[in-house]
Amino acid sequence: MKLPVYMDYQATTPVDPRVLDAMLPFFREEFGNAASRSHPFGWKAEEAVEKARAQIAALIGASPKEIVFTSGSTEAINLALKGVAEMYAERGKHLITSEAEHKAVLDTCKRLEKLGYEVTYVAPDRTGRVSREQVAGALRPDTILVALIWANNEVGTLNPIREIGELCHQKGVLFFTDGTQAVGKIPVDVEADHVDLLCLSGHKIYGPKGIGCLYVRRKSPRVRLVAQMDGGGHERGMRSGTLNVPGIVGLGKACEICQQEMASETRRSKELRSRFKERVLSELDFVAFNGNKEHHLPGNLNLSFSFVEGESLIMGISDVAVSSGSACTSASLEPSHVLRSMGVGDDLAHSSIRFGFGRFTTPEEVDWAADQVIAAVKRLRAMSPLYEMAQEGIDIASVNWQAGH
Ligand SMILES: *Cc1c(COP(=O)(O)O)cnc(C)c1O
Repeated sequence: MKLPVYMDYQATTPVDPRVLDAMLPFFREEFGNAASRSHPFGWKAEEAVEKARAQIAALIGASPKEIVFTSGSTEAINLALKGVAEMYAERGKHLITSEAEHKAVLDTCKRLEKLGYEVTYVAPDRTGRVSREQVAGALRPDTILVALIWANNEVGTLNPIREIGELCHQKGVLFFTDGTQAVGKIPVDVEADHVDLLCLSGHKIYGPKGIGCLYVRRKSPRVRLVAQMDGGGHERGMRSGTLNVPGIVGLGKACEICQQEMASETRRSKELRSRFKERVLSELDFVAFNGNKEHHLPGNLNLSFSFVEGESLIMGISDVAVSSGSACTSASLEPSHVLRSMGVGDDLAHSSIRFGFGRFTTPEEVDWAADQVIAAVKRLRAMSPLYEMAQEGIDIASVNWQAGH
């Protein structure tokens, strides 16, 4: 077993060797510009791009023409939200999203608010889920777009996308979903799920970084966007810029592998997750599960270890790569906005750790990591008077800390 053990699969994933092999020729002999129409270098690049487009479309039940390549999900989110807001401003200036979105969605919404749009932020329930009823209650005559995350990147909770998509279609409102964590891990079908726009990213599904795409529905309804990048008119005018051919080839291959191996991989990551969870829970008390046990991304587990600071725990398990809160915000020591939106108290949010179980995780790594966590939590709790009190059955929340003053 090689150290450190990687358990941060929701932050990024290693490139699958089969993906890298598919990409390499496009850095070497097949270096053409996919927009060059006058010679075989260009034709071969274009052919490779079209093959990848079909592989990606097949994974999500789309048609290849509905795929617009971007540099990743962040760019695809910006294009979807800003592009739709600008295109449909005459119809209305109201959007609906949730408090548990990725920052790429929340910050784009903030930008739109500065530009005069109104955004309703729906709060998820204690498990991180938003309901169809909540979205229905937030809809207004001037609502143009609903934007909801499919699988939450911190707690792995799955939203009822099909129900909400169906509602949006009934009401004639466009529906965007951030599918970055969901695509490739759970079945996604933009037709059956009533999705109009969806983003996905290579590096979350064993493909390369810096490549992703936006699915843009072409019929019933035909979604129109204002491009956010001006230039040569690539990607049917929706996203200019010379295509990243090796990246696109890698993304296509990554999607193909996900489609072929989804069933077995889901089974495997669930088994590894249970193995880890059972081992940890059999040795430690006061461990809380954050998320939804029924509607849960297979390779994700978010746990709070009471009486232990997440940051101290991470330092205590230095050979296990995990993150506390969101990787994007953990530079600041703010408790995760996702856990907060779910109503998890700041104490528990501060003691939360996200574990990821992916394609290259082994049972040996899981056992070793679990033992590291158990030992570190016990060590840290041994220094905690609060933990001692809790063990004696004292309800910490009811203690009057002012007594004696
Ligand atoms: C990683 C992630 C993003 C950002 O994707 P990039 O391709 O890195 O820009 C957006 N949403 C979710 C849910 C993610 O997990």
